[in-house]
Formats: sequence, structure tokens, C-alpha cells
Amino acid sequence: MSTVVDELGARLRTYEGRAAAVAGRGRDPVNEPMIRHWCEAMGDTDPAYAGPDAVAPPTMLQAWTMGGLSGHTGRTEAYDELFDLLDAAGCTSVVATDCEQEYLRPLRPGDEVTFDAVIESVSDRKTTKLGTGYFVTTRMDVRVGLDLVGTHRFRILKYAPARQKEKAKEKEEANREGKREGKGARARRPRPVVNRDNAGFWEGVEQHQLLIQRCTNCETLRHPWLPGCNACGGLDWDTVEASGEGTVYSYVVMHHPPFPAFDPPYAVGLIELAEGVRIVSNVVGVPYDKVRIGLPVRLEFRRYDEPQGSGDEAGPLVLPVFRVQEGREDEVG
Ligand code: ZN
Repeated sequence: MSTVVDELGARLRTYEGRAAAVAGRGRDPVNEPMIRHWCEAMGDTDPAYAGPDAVAPPTMLQAWTMGGLSGHTGRTEAYDELFDLLDAAGCTSVVATDCEQEYLRPLRPGDEVTFDAVIESVSDRKTTKLGTGYFVTTRMDVRVGLDLVGTHRFRILKYAPARQKEKAKEKEEANREGKREGKGARARRPRPVVNRDNAGFWEGVEQHQLLIQRCTNCETLRHPWLPGCNACGGLDWDTVEASGEGTVYSYVVMHHPPFPAFDPPYAVGLIELAEGVRIVSNVVGVPYDKVRIGLPVRLEFRRYDEPQGSGDEAGPLVLPVFRVQEGREDEVG
């Protein structure tokens, strides 16, 4: 630990205890229709949330405090100042890290909530993988009348991105290399996150096989790969190789934001395989504005990021993509 006094940290901590948001009142009293919609969306059929003695699901706590799309955030000057101080110190990035709720008594239809939020704590300076900065915790207290019914703590990390400088340097170097070779250097595609649960899928892709997981208990197919079966909860599985036939079930055209390895606009498709499961992938073989729902497509494997020279040690990336069949561009099933 550094013994250097963290002046910024000391200054930030003077904001502890100050209001983060102006006091507010719930837009609607706790009510049955919102509870019913919530339960439907969550698939929660607990009988405690219906009927004449219904209570609201505790996890709805924050819902009763939300301003809706037209609502304002109610941030205080103190909270804005705290952010300005962090921005000025180079901590310009922000990521929400976690939230924590505490339920002191159930809410019931008819309860009218009020709430306020306070800057509860600012951490010491921390260095994380993302960069160096400060965790800021705000706490919202939710009340009915004078009773505290629940609290909602929300923690963010406001930080100076670690690798920005390094990345800029790399990019500059890559560009110089590119110029020397007479072509524009290209950013590499993001690599898949391979873990124990999906390693088999990526091993299949390496071998130019698109493997679909199959529950050995109930035979339900699933994609993307998961540790268990959504239909029966079974943990045992094997795989079937996709035939490669499919159709565009849905798609989006990406215009923004730009990612270094991609040239917008491009189409991202949700492909329904002949076997019935769907996979997100690129649609190739037609311009982005010719992709349509129902287009028949066929699987192929493409290699990206071929090594550019002796200094480039990372191997190419093999990905499944879906090609619109020649002569079938206008065929919409
Ligand atoms: Zn199953």
C-alpha cells in the first residue's frame, strides 16, 4: 500500500452522507396490476403475490421508486460535483458493479412510498482490471409514512481506464506497420470467452462442425451451450452436428456504435437452424440491406485475423457464419 496521502480520496469522502438524489414520491401507489405484470415477466407464481392478502414481491422495491421514461433522475448538485471531481482526475469511465437490497417489511397494495438517496461511502483508491478509481456507494431509503420499508444500495466504479494509453500506442504502431505494408492495419475481432460450459462448442467450430447440445434425459436440443437442460433440469448431455441448413429468423443492421474490427453497417442475424435451435451469427453473401426474415441460409466456416507476419503470434479465429444461397436471395419462406 502506498503511504502517499490520497488527496482526491480525502476530498471525495467529504461527500459521504450528502444527498445523492432529491427526495421523491412513488409515481403510483403499490398496486396489483404492476405486481401481476412483474410476476408474469419473472415467471414467479408464488401465491403470496396474488389475492386479497397479496404483498408485493420484495425484489420490486426499486420499481416503486422509478421515474419511468419521462421521469428525471433527481440527482443533486453534490452528486454531480462528486462526478465532476472524478472526471477532472481522469476517472472518466463508469461501471455499475453491484446492488444490494434489504427488505424490512412487505409492501402491500395501497402503500404509497417515498424515498431519498444518500452518498453512503466512497472507497479508497482501488486498482482493478478495468483501471484505477473509486467505488461510490449510494443508498436509497424507501419509506411508507415514517416506516423504513427497505433500502437499495447501488455501487459504481468510477475509474481511469487502465489500458487506454497502451492501446492507443498499439494502434499507432499497427497503423505504421500497415502503412509500410501498403494496406490499412485491421483491429482483431473480439475473441470468444471459452469456459468449461462451452469449450465443446468452440472445439467443434475449430473442426468445422456446429455442435448442438442435446439433453440425454429428455432429448431437448439447446443453443447456446448451457450446463443444464431448460426443459427438465438434466445435467447430462451429448451433441448432434447441425446439418447447416437454416433460415434468417430475425436480424438487426448495426450502424452504431462502431467496433474496431467491424465495418458498419453490417447485418447480424438470428438464424433458426433446421434442427430448431437459433444462433446469432453474421449473414454473408448479400449486402446488409438485402437481408430479410425468412431467407434460406447455409452454414460455412470463416477464418478471421490471419496472422499478418512473423511477429503476429495469435492464431486466426474460426467462426460459423451463414451464407445466403446464390439465386435464393429473393426467396423468403
Ligand atoms: Zn432435458
